[in-house]
Amino acid sequence: MIYTGGTIGMKTDPLVGALRPFDFAQILDEVPELGKFAGTLDSYSFDPLIDSSDIDPAMWQKMASLIAEKYDDYDGFVVLHGTDTMSYSASALSFMLDGLSKPVIFTGSQLPVGAPRTDGKENLVSAVEIASARCADGSARVPEVAIYFGSYLMRGNRTMKVNAESFEAFRSPNLEPLAESGINIRYNDRIIRKCSGEPLKVSLGLDTRVSILKIHPGITPQVVRNILLGPETRAVIIETYGAGNAPSASWFMDMVREAAASKILVNVTQCASGTVDMDLYATGKQMKEAGVISGRDSTTEAMLAKLFHLLGSGLSDDEVKAALAVSLRGEIS
Ligand code: ASP
Repeated sequence: MIYTGGTIGMKTDPLVGALRPFDFAQILDEVPELGKFAGTLDSYSFDPLIDSSDIDPAMWQKMASLIAEKYDDYDGFVVLHGTDTMSYSASALSFMLDGLSKPVIFTGSQLPVGAPRTDGKENLVSAVEIASARCADGSARVPEVAIYFGSYLMRGNRTMKVNAESFEAFRSPNLEPLAESGINIRYNDRIIRKCSGEPLKVSLGLDTRVSILKIHPGITPQVVRNILLGPETRAVIIETYGAGNAPSASWFMDMVREAAASKILVNVTQCASGTVDMDLYATGKQMKEAGVISGRDSTTEAMLAKLFHLLGSGLSDDEVKAALAVSLRGEIS
């Protein structure tokens, strides 16, 4: 178990009256059920423990390095993480860890594990069970980076946090859950990724020169110019309407064309589910003709992580564009 922080391990600090992380030994005290597992359970804690709003790519590198270092020592890994950025972290780790043959299961909770109605215990105990689950031939049942939360196991790079209050805080709108837990944990083996048989390849390179432009009615040329044409970015994710549509105003399309000449522009829909189809409407078609690449049914979280990873891998812009069109870790349909 890799404990990074988050609500699951927080307690109210009487001095400030707000939640703060506490150490791992206290989590174990609150979840004696973990002692019933037959296997060996070790823990590694981040120092300092963080609210996941403070997560950054250096911490993804730290998580990936730790998993790589300990890979041969364990059957699976559980990452305890705050919910706010869990989908970003799970997406990033899915790209950084290629050829996984062991589970990496993220989980956390909406209420601290010491709270009477906590969802943390069930999430943690089930995540550990999933991380140690094996097929009849001894191979891992879920050799993927996934999130277990609120009874569902979901492919990490398909998830988004959709609820700030409910115990079902995450959804995977474009892919069925990998498993659902009730009395039994029912695995959806049809969609769980198979292990490639290749050895684990860890890529730590991440280039963060990516920004996100969310289209909205009333968006001004100044705002679009700053984000699309800012010299500090190599790629921009354009969050469009519906099937990938954006304003047809000439000033907007001119800026898109200008930016596409020197940057990678990707079209991801603002809708929670469904896919970008730039051939459906004239405005989408204009984007396609301008050189914008379809993000298909990717979440914004997964696309951001994929771009960080691809740009950080030393690929040329053309190679990055080619890789965006294919599914690397099951992140697009
Ligand atoms: N702010 C917390 C975090 O993301 C929320 C949580 O864990 O649920 O670390």
